[in-house]
Amino acid sequence: MTLMNGREHIKIDAGNYQRGKLKGRKPTSAQLCKHRDGNYYIHIQIKDEAPEPIKSTNVIGVDFGRRDIAVTSNGDKWDGKQINDVRDKFSRVRSSLQKKATKGTRSTRRRARQILQRLSGKERRYQQWLNHNISKSIIQDALKNNAALAIEDLTGIRERTNQKPRNKTERRRSNSWSFYQLRFFLEYKGIQFGVEVIAVPPAWTSQTCHQCLHVGLRSDKRFKCTNEACSWSGDADFNGAKNIATIGAVFVNQPRGSNCLCCELSTDSSGLLKSLRSPLAGA
Ligand SMILES: [Zn+2]
Repeated sequence: MTLMNGREHIKIDAGNYQRGKLKGRKPTSAQLCKHRDGNYYIHIQIKDEAPEPIKSTNVIGVDFGRRDIAVTSNGDKWDGKQINDVRDKFSRVRSSLQKKATKGTRSTRRRARQILQRLSGKERRYQQWLNHNISKSIIQDALKNNAALAIEDLTGIRERTNQKPRNKTERRRSNSWSFYQLRFFLEYKGIQFGVEVIAVPPAWTSQTCHQCLHVGLRSDKRFKCTNEACSWSGDADFNGAKNIATIGAVFVNQPRGSNCLCCELSTDSSGLLKSLRSPLAGA
């Protein structure tokens, strides 16, 4: 913005919350924006020093489930039912509106487009709110237990949820950005609070029994170990989370940077530690 008469001081109308956030901090940069309501807003960036991640040999595994949003190896579970219901409802309304948006009269078409836009915002905000809450409690759990977090490698989610032929509804649910958002929230909250987040290869985590490392049977929500001596059965996502925790623990307990490991470590573009091969693969 160029002011006609050179430099001028403009008072910032900041609330208590914003003042509190800025107190004792050094802003690094700022942008002045004119919003749609006609007012000018200033966005101020401040740099936060991230705490050193806690070095821990204790690992909590997090499985992003098919029905449940997330299950941890500690047994915490975030039911996906509510969000799936909301999404299905939005999807139904959306498809009926889309028909109207292409077929109706000119004014119905316009109206339908407007509602569609508003709906997508509502759905997105609800999902975001939910993901923030889930990631927050997982991080808090890790802090409380002085633990690192292990999650499946990003590429695994799509592969795994695509392993069975599925209907349109289920595909829409799992190939969504919401999984990626939740994972992203976990990663950045991990950095913020000093909780190490490790990405482990997803291979075998859903088929292996966490008790005896035998391959078992997975049918949707249930897992059943086929080893007669063990015959553990239970929640499939919980079993997955336990396996993810086991792989994660192999990771944090091996000396970093040495080459004589059972699995190599690399760092992906997001700076996350990754192992290339699953230690469970040999079991
Ligand atoms: Zn077993």
